Amino acid sequence: MGLLAVATIMAGCGSEPPQPVKVDAKVDAAARLKAAKDAKIRNAAKVKANELGQIPVLMFHRVIPSPQTTDDRTPKQFRADLERLAKEGYVPVTAAEMVTGKIDIPAGKYPVVLTFDDSSPSQLTLNAVGVPQKDTAVAIMKEVAAKYPGWRPKATFFVTRDLFGKTTTEEQAQALLWLKDNGFEIANHTRDHLNLRSISQAQVEEQIGSIGKTIEQLTYTKPVTIALPYGAQPKKKDWALNGKGYKHKGAFLAGYTPAPAPFSKSFDAAGVPRIKVMEKKGDCAQFCSEAWLDWLKKNPDMRYTSDGDPKTVAYPKFKQPYLRKSFSAMSLPY
Ligand SMILES: [Zn+2]
Repeated sequence: MGLLAVATIMAGCGSEPPQPVKVDAKVDAAARLKAAKDAKIRNAAKVKANELGQIPVLMFHRVIPSPQTTDDRTPKQFRADLERLAKEGYVPVTAAEMVTGKIDIPAGKYPVVLTFDDSSPSQLTLNAVGVPQKDTAVAIMKEVAAKYPGWRPKATFFVTRDLFGKTTTEEQAQALLWLKDNGFEIANHTRDHLNLRSISQAQVEEQIGSIGKTIEQLTYTKPVTIALPYGAQPKKKDWALNGKGYKHKGAFLAGYTPAPAPFSKSFDAAGVPRIKVMEKKGDCAQFCSEAWLDWLKKNPDMRYTSDGDPKTVAYPKFKQPYLRKSFSAMSLPY
């Protein structure tokens, strides 16, 4: 197969002899593929794509007018937290999208994962027709998305049996289904919020499996990720990922650094670091969100930057040794 004789083209005036053109179909297809790949490489280089870079996974708790601990944010602070991210070119993805490598954001943008722990009513309260109450986390996420084109209300809610303060099965279903229908991820934070480090394997599996089952019964979807209460891993860290009735793709910690990209060898699905959201004060002078976002801004070569194509993993060639082997078929070094 291969050589195609293409019809000769007659020049109108007859001043030149007709030239027979021969094209090898396979060579032609290969050349087109190479041209397409070269274009992708040029685009990746143009936006300085680095899909082996670090991703901030931010950890929120309550959003309340009068904070009681440094884990709480006021609605005003939370709005400012999101606006900073939107202005600096971050685009939210869920924890599940991150750990499974489905990071679909525009070229030149940076992924951020917004996570909410403990399923408090300050995160999600709906009125009788399903409209979020003013100043709840979901209401503020929607407001900011309306104000900043390109920003989107996307986040992961790590829930316990508190289920946003809802006690009847119907109300619990309304809350969780609203999250699901609005593109948010509902994930596992164990039933009773115990320290998993100090309990047996059977107890760990009961704590994780039971709330997982509740979520599945209410939403027809199994959680893909888990956040460990207090960031404490069980005696064997794999118990958080795999157990009776559950299989998680990522277990999230409670500190203190940006997370490695899922395509990087440094990524550990059983312990994905998160960053507490807080100004540079006291213990947070170096290891909370304001400090890390400043650091990522000053060190753009360390930050995950998308090439805009979720089917490729683009990065400067020099970083090649850090690519996880399982992603080599998608790799696009430049
Ligand atoms: Zn918690």
